[in-house]
Amino acid sequence: MSGASAVAHPSCCSACDRDPVEGLPLTPLDEAIERIEALVSVIEGTETLPLTQAAGRIQATDLTSPMPLPLWDNSAVDGYAVRMADLTGDGPHVLPVVGRVAAGDDAGQVIEARAAVRIFTGAPMPSWADAVVMQEDCSLSECGAEVSFSDAPPTHAHIRFRGEDVPQGSVIIRKGTRLDARHIALASSVGTRHVDVIRPVRVAILATGAELAEPGQALSPGAIYDSNTPMLAALLDQPHISLTVHRTVTDDFEVIRQAVRQLAADHDLLLTSGGMSVGEEDYIRRVVETEGCELDVKKVAMKPGKPLGFGRLGRCLFIGLPGNPFAALTGFLLFARPAIADLCGMNRSDHLLQGRAAFSTRHGGKRIEFVPARISGFAKDGLPRLEKLGKGGSARLNPLIDADGLAALPIGNEGIKEGARLAFYPFHAVFGLR
Ligand code: AMP
Ligand code: MG
Repeated sequence: MSGASAVAHPSCCSACDRDPVEGLPLTPLDEAIERIEALVSVIEGTETLPLTQAAGRIQATDLTSPMPLPLWDNSAVDGYAVRMADLTGDGPHVLPVVGRVAAGDDAGQVIEARAAVRIFTGAPMPSWADAVVMQEDCSLSECGAEVSFSDAPPTHAHIRFRGEDVPQGSVIIRKGTRLDARHIALASSVGTRHVDVIRPVRVAILATGAELAEPGQALSPGAIYDSNTPMLAALLDQPHISLTVHRTVTDDFEVIRQAVRQLAADHDLLLTSGGMSVGEEDYIRRVVETEGCELDVKKVAMKPGKPLGFGRLGRCLFIGLPGNPFAALTGFLLFARPAIADLCGMNRSDHLLQGRAAFSTRHGGKRIEFVPARISGFAKDGLPRLEKLGKGGSARLNPLIDADGLAALPIGNEGIKEGARLAFYPFHAVFGLR
């Protein structure tokens, strides 16, 4: 064993969720989040991609529209283009049908006399017409030569005007946008073929623990299957991330040190799981400190996930997640996910939701506690009722399966009363879990 500050403590049990990091400074969650935000700077490097390959990537520059949308005035419905000046007096109005314009046609000749033109959705408006009467409001003479309708439409009815959706030269996609189907559609609608995106952010994951085996391997006595590596790999399997999965390393200082050194050299973020406490077998903290990383935060006042730390390993951001799987997930969602967004300059809009506790707890706590919660209906004021799942414990994954998200139980001397308002982090909307 090497490293300066190793102190032997008894291991915690997952049910009581105590862990042996009492000697380290405990940072409040809000402060820890501010500190990691201050630590991250945007990576350099962009690439140009065909629009069709850009979903999930981060827009590197503001994209302005080279044209107005719609490009010309056009009809929003199937009907008849008319001139309001021709519709004087009370209806019914009867007009000869003198032409036909479908989508893809040009708008046709100027018509001087009282007349209507058959028009279809998306067809360019004839320049002389200033309203469209919906075909549902019209009847045609038997030979189809005349159209009649009882009421004159409002001026400009059913016309989509040039530039009303997108003015020419306006920014349609802001720098930092994570491109999804909506942006691809809008960019394509103004003729964009290529976009400039941030290069993929290079993330490495490294799980440590002599007890870890991979599914497929036989379990020796004391061994468990590694769940953090595939969990983190699934969370990081995204187009804007280039992922290196370093296979589980044994609890050996030198082996871990080599792996950390190598991965920090050519990644933007090194994410480890396990080994962040101060037990004899916890090497990650000591390894990164030996490698020159001054940990900004060494443990966080949250439950689960207290033994979480981060700092810089040269140009690489380091985040040490706890080993217990629920704690690793919570730490990832609260720290690593936003840090990755900030690394690639992504605009974040992580709006928290609120809910009402459909449960009570007997005791308060000194750390914000995240509990798996399921929405079980709605309270009188419309907020979702949050049912707490599972009995707690940072190692337990099973309660997450039926959960819609995590509810945050605030710090306090007293327990949570049923009906209390709680912050709620839905897995899909806030954390983007997919
Ligand atoms: P540690 O933080 O290394 O003390 O680990 C805390 C607990 O998490 C121990 O029970 C470990 O066996 C467990 N653990 C650590 N890494 C993993 C992993 N990759 N997958 C599943 N459990 C893990
Ligand atoms: Mg360990």
